[in-house]
Amino acid sequence: MSLPGVIDGLQFARDGGELRGTLGLERLSRLAELPCKTSGVEYWLRGGLNRTGKPSLGLKASGRLEVVCQRCLGPLLIDVEVDVELELCADPDFIAQADDEVDRVIATRDMRVAELVEDEVILALPEAPKHEVCDIDGSIAGPKKQSPFGVLAGLKKRDDR
Ligand SMILES: [Zn+2]
Repeated sequence: MSLPGVIDGLQFARDGGELRGTLGLERLSRLAELPCKTSGVEYWLRGGLNRTGKPSLGLKASGRLEVVCQRCLGPLLIDVEVDVELELCADPDFIAQADDEVDRVIATRDMRVAELVEDEVILALPEAPKHEVCDIDGSIAGPKKQSPFGVLAGLKKRDDR
């Protein structure tokens, strides 16, 4: 038996395995470091064969994340939806060289489900998340930590008008 939260990728695909669950922030360390808060990311992982008959993992995930706005440094809520099909591939070189639209992951016998989910959630996040319109006057709670980047972004925004 494999450990909970760990799958043998090819076996899971061959067996048509299915796993559902919710990951809390304690299982999503890279997201936690962003920083980012969430009450949980729900996922649904299915093993099977893709259109070309290769073993693959279908992954759906969704969750509401609270990140830091890169303009005003206030909290920003983002609803993330992931729906991907990942072809399992044993050869990292092939993945690096493949010149097609297929998403691939390296198939191992101990693939950590939480990491797979976290990878895809991170890919689904914007690189520099910002409010559409920042509530600049919302800082009545006191002076906020300002990063140089945040100050610059704020100046830029005023210039744009
Ligand atoms: Zn903002």
